[in-house]
Amino acid sequence: MPGWRHVALLVIFLLATVETSGRATDETASPPLQLEYHLVLTHPNLHLVTVEITAGKVSGDSLDFVMPAWSPGRYAIYDFAKNVQEFEAGGAQGQALPWTNLDKQTWHVDARQAGGIVKARYRVFANDLNGSFSQFDYSHANLNGPSIFMYIAGHKSDPLTLAVDAPKDWKLISAFSESTAERTFQAPDYDRLVDTPIEASAEIKLAQFQEQGKTIRIAVHDYDQDDTDTTKLLEGLKKIVHVEMALMPAPDFERYTFIFHFAHDISVGDGMEHLNSTQIILRGSLSSSLDEALETAAHEFFHIWNVKRLRPVELGPFYYTREVYTPSLWFAEGVTTYVGYLSLLRSGLWTREQFLARLSDEIRALEEEPGRTLVSAESSSFHAWFYDRSPQMQETNFVDSTISYYNKGALLGMLLDLEMLSRTEGAKSLLDVLSSLYQRFYETPPATYYGPGRGYTEQDILEALNEVAGSDFTPFFDSYVRGTAPLPYGRALGMAGLTLRISVAEGSPPRIGITALPENRGLRVFTVRPGGAADRAGLGRDDLLIAVDQQSLAGADLNEHLKAYRPGAIVPFTVERHGRQQIINLNLEPPIPDSYSIQELPGATPQQTAIRNRWLTGRN
Ligand SMILES: [Zn+2]
Ligand SMILES: [Zn+2]
Repeated sequence: MPGWRHVALLVIFLLATVETSGRATDETASPPLQLEYHLVLTHPNLHLVTVEITAGKVSGDSLDFVMPAWSPGRYAIYDFAKNVQEFEAGGAQGQALPWTNLDKQTWHVDARQAGGIVKARYRVFANDLNGSFSQFDYSHANLNGPSIFMYIAGHKSDPLTLAVDAPKDWKLISAFSESTAERTFQAPDYDRLVDTPIEASAEIKLAQFQEQGKTIRIAVHDYDQDDTDTTKLLEGLKKIVHVEMALMPAPDFERYTFIFHFAHDISVGDGMEHLNSTQIILRGSLSSSLDEALETAAHEFFHIWNVKRLRPVELGPFYYTREVYTPSLWFAEGVTTYVGYLSLLRSGLWTREQFLARLSDEIRALEEEPGRTLVSAESSSFHAWFYDRSPQMQETNFVDSTISYYNKGALLGMLLDLEMLSRTEGAKSLLDVLSSLYQRFYETPPATYYGPGRGYTEQDILEALNEVAGSDFTPFFDSYVRGTAPLPYGRALGMAGLTLRISVAEGSPPRIGITALPENRGLRVFTVRPGGAADRAGLGRDDLLIAVDQQSLAGADLNEHLKAYRPGAIVPFTVERHGRQQIINLNLEPPIPDSYSIQELPGATPQQTAIRNRWLTGRN
């Protein structure tokens, strides 16, 4: 029945093209609305933020108000709608308008009786100091747009105004404002609204400096009242910004804003990149976390080029209601980490030894991951939605089955940089590839409502490498980016007259290949290294190791016990599973090399030394 088939195809076509709230990245041609957002920060005790969205020039029969499920920069579904309450909608005369929930994050408002104006009002519970969430309490409001602001389906590209009601003595800082007294802002579209975090507090300290004619502003909120000297932070940031601005083409902003938080009572810190600002949140105080603050700043500031402007094709404009998948986070995040390290070295904040030691740590981290033979850099990026601070309701073995695209991406950055320097005899580096991509994909028209340029694909990275080098990087990509071949550290470092030394620390005991957590009666196995002694003997996760050779392991250090034996010894372990005990004999294995260091090759050639100096200093 071809006719029926035709109808079915037509239905599928309509379903695919009709814009539903959860599906829209591209904006429809419907006439723009006149949008005013109003944010009310008046009741901090309940951590409730009030949002009012007034849409004027409404001509359609309905409007869908949509709460994002995630926040760009953190690849995890958080469902911000779960903290929305008391939604209501009214029309031009204040009359209530009927609405229904289409799904967990979409409020469908019937606008037929609206009189051209729809006003939505809701409250959001916000009590997390974090780069993706928001917090409103007596000390401040720290707001990340996607967790607070709904958009109207089909109208993300419409310009809008934001007005904020906050206590009079609070200073407001965001990439929107010049003065901390400003309370009304203009945003060209919804994407920019939510890419502009806002900090409002009476407690923030402010500073600024100039670099290449751009104003760099710093806001510091340090909960440690005795520790508010920002001098060292400011000095370090000046050096980082100076070095990174010299690495890449000048960015298209007049002002950039660092928003720092230092708090003792948070469980974990965070850093989050935005178009013209960043949120850096650290555990501890300004002085205790200064090094970490500068390291994070070196990473986040480089994101103004890599990911916020030069971006994977999947990352902007965004679907806010579901995952967007990209294979390129190894480049967007890992290479950013690598360039951050390079900037810390070249700014003088790190010594050459610190830089090489950090790269050695990265190598060690990857080499100790069993997942490095299972998962490629591209695959790890694609599946970020599983790992990037996602809530885990189900037990996983990620520790054995995955890698970090930050970690492997940083190492790929190092290898590509050395390979590029070597192939071009020091004339070109990875930074030339980044600049070339930036010019080709960000600075070249056509622009969209979202901003200049377009996104890149993995193939575009490869082609830029090939063009800058004048030779083919396809085998490198196939083996190390798309594939899981062991990374060629020795070859790459050798080109710069360096070598990787891997050794066993003196006095290391034999191993059985597990990690375990101490419990009252013994050690609870947490991970078992595939192919190791414990794996071969059949030990598994959650086994409780009660004793070794009849000596209790309650409160014990397993390594101390194992020092009594030689590799190859067969040792009986008392193991408890589901309340039943048994003896399992383990054949101890030699200690694993766990000391990694990058050292200078004795007798390096002048060519090798020249590449090394070019790499480390950026100068010939
Ligand atoms: Zn604050
Ligand atoms: Zn990052």
